[in-house]
Amino acid sequence: MQDIDILIVEDEKKIADALRQGLTENSFRAEVAYDGVIGWKVFQNRPFHLVILDINLPGMNGYELCKAIRAADPAVPVIMLTALNTLDDKIEGFDAGADDYIVKPFDFRELLVRIRALLKRIHRTVATGTLLHAGNLQMNLDSKEVTREGKPISLTAKEFQLLEYFLRNKNRVVSRVDISLHVWDIDFDTRTNVIDVYVNYLRKKIDKDFDEPLIHTQVGMGYILKDKS
Ligand code: CA
Repeated sequence: MQDIDILIVEDEKKIADALRQGLTENSFRAEVAYDGVIGWKVFQNRPFHLVILDINLPGMNGYELCKAIRAADPAVPVIMLTALNTLDDKIEGFDAGADDYIVKPFDFRELLVRIRALLKRIHRTVATGTLLHAGNLQMNLDSKEVTREGKPISLTAKEFQLLEYFLRNKNRVVSRVDISLHVWDIDFDTRTNVIDVYVNYLRKKIDKDFDEPLIHTQVGMGYILKDKS
């Protein structure tokens, strides 16, 4: 299991550190966040293959974080790890978008089995393409194809990255600074209009010929890609 990045969001330092160590010993790469809000920031910063989430967390609880992760990435497997073990807690976890649920105290070997099973499942999905959606627009991250209403849309590499960023953050306002940092890796001088120019290129391709625009301008704040489906 090389090059598999796992995000652990757990505020109990002992458990979090033991998890990181166990995962590292099993050849996974693991990063820990001890707080829900920090976990969300770390998740948005770079891609992860799997997320392990505690439920009672400071900042943002595991259910809220799971919903945010699901909205940004429908495919990434999420395992909830918690001391809460009533049926209601489990249902709430699955409703928030969790794929699996492990009750503390747990045996690390069991967690490992569940992680491997979930990763096998996404590897199967990868074979047929990892997809991001908004309404009737679909992006295939493997084949780099974008379609809307089934019609292929041809994008440049930068437009593709920009659209991917919008899709991963759909229904959330992103500022020009967010966009420049994530899509260009630099903080553009705010007086330049590079971002607006690129957003307009993208709009011409994905919105102009369709009834329902996806990208909206949020005056004074930035842009938002709205998925009403
Ligand atoms: Ca906790």
